[in-house]
Amino acid sequence: MSLTGRILLGMGAGLVLGALIKWFGQSQLLAPGFMQFIDTYFVEGLFLLIGKIFVASLKLLVVPLVFVSLVCGAGALGDSSKLGRVGIKTIGLYLLTTATAIVIALFVANLVNPGMGVNMAEGAVFVAKESPPLINVLINIFPSNPVKAMAEGNMLQVIVFAILLGVAIARSGEAGTRVAQFFVDMNEVIMKLVTMLMSFAPYGVFCLMAQLFAHQGIGVIGDLAWYFFTVIAVLLLHGFGTYAILIKVLGGLNPIPFYRKMRATMMFAFSTASSNATIPVTLKTVESRLGVKNSIASFTVPLGATINMDGTAIMQGVATVFIAQAYNIDIGLSGYLMVIVTATLASIGTAGVPGVGLITLAMVLQQVGLPVEGIALIIGVDRLLDMVRTAVNVTGDATVSCLVAGSEGQLDRDIFEDPAAGELLEQRS
Ligand code: ASP
Repeated sequence: MSLTGRILLGMGAGLVLGALIKWFGQSQLLAPGFMQFIDTYFVEGLFLLIGKIFVASLKLLVVPLVFVSLVCGAGALGDSSKLGRVGIKTIGLYLLTTATAIVIALFVANLVNPGMGVNMAEGAVFVAKESPPLINVLINIFPSNPVKAMAEGNMLQVIVFAILLGVAIARSGEAGTRVAQFFVDMNEVIMKLVTMLMSFAPYGVFCLMAQLFAHQGIGVIGDLAWYFFTVIAVLLLHGFGTYAILIKVLGGLNPIPFYRKMRATMMFAFSTASSNATIPVTLKTVESRLGVKNSIASFTVPLGATINMDGTAIMQGVATVFIAQAYNIDIGLSGYLMVIVTATLASIGTAGVPGVGLITLAMVLQQVGLPVEGIALIIGVDRLLDMVRTAVNVTGDATVSCLVAGSEGQLDRDIFEDPAAGELLEQRS
């Protein structure tokens, strides 16, 4: 079976097993002692252990992979005018897709009215964490200490340092060529490590899902069904509609192979709920399966995982409408325009890790004068939504990578079309 098939199987089996554990725990059909045993040794034991190790093994690759790959990419692009053009196109497309996402979210949410008739939970408390002012976000892009940036996994800073180093290497003549060769070799070695660790994915995904669903019942959806399904519907619309149109119209490419090849990456994003932890898989897929040259992918993928959060913006759009309706506050047209601007900017400041979207939602709500405590109303279903929106987030990154590469002549269309191109799994000879 292909790796994608095995991951899907692991995901489905984990989900069913987790749900069964939860159901048996609640129905008290089995002896409480037995359920206690399952909980201690499996849910909070084996599943937790393997799930955590799996996510850690993905995360451990992120900084070295992004750094080495981007030094190669920036070095290969060489002259800074090309780099500037790619940078502007990429950031422009990321902002455009996010703004589109949130416009669709606001439009659909206003049709569905998910918050009508919702009783705002009396005494709901949600203490918002302070989100940093935008100016600090911008200043912080430039690292004062690249080693610290790497140690802390500050992706934007790592990206800036890698680009500077890559450009310097390209300008350093023979010495540069020698150093570049080292990075090219190193890139191959790290990519091999990605492939090795990926064969472990079906088990990792199984344990993550079983552990999560043993605790997280879908019963939480209850009263929030309208909100939940509105977010899901817009996520699907954007994930399979907007991107397909962009790929077809802007890129002149066939969306079918794109989605087929993105399946495994989406499943990684879904089960880890972290675009950051998914970077190694996204990068590998975009390069070897979709045919985007390293010089583009090494820049667009990590940047996208850090600043491009279409799925998160969709949740924020629907959540804003929901909270406004639940509290009976009319934010008016100017309020909606403000939401589009702040949610687009907030998605830049949202790190690609689980649950951060809710923190930046506080910023959006504050901007339009809605009560931040409203977040307490939707927090119950956020973990489930986080998984789906993260899958949309990474699909957006891959879409923009293909578009930018296509426009720069850096997309191998034969690889893109070839269903068998770039096996994700380690070939065992
Ligand atoms: N979990 C999301 C991501 O990593 C961010 C969020 O929406 O909380 O892309």
